Amino acid sequence: MNLTRERRLKLNKIAEHYGKEHQRLKLIEELGELTSALATGTEGDVIGELADVEVMMEQIKDLFGVRTKVEGVITLKIERQIRRIAYERTD
Ligand SMILES: [Mg+2]
Repeated sequence: MNLTRERRLKLNKIAEHYGKEHQRLKLIEELGELTSALATGTEGDVIGELADVEVMMEQIKDLFGVRTKVEGVITLKIERQIRRIAYERTD
């Protein structure tokens, strides 16, 4: 998520209010709801649960202090997958 400063501040307020352990469990719960929505839900269900998961992931990255590391790993994983696709095309 490309966070605006205002959104980041609000998410940090929520994260600090509930704390690391509560929000860790909440992300687990929301991931389950997204799984169910993707399996059997409507498009509206999927949209809502994607939003819930993204909101929780953004909080967890800051609560665990791993935002920069996650961004780096995302870059590596995208580049690796692009290389794999290029390799598949040469088979
Ligand atoms: Mg939900």
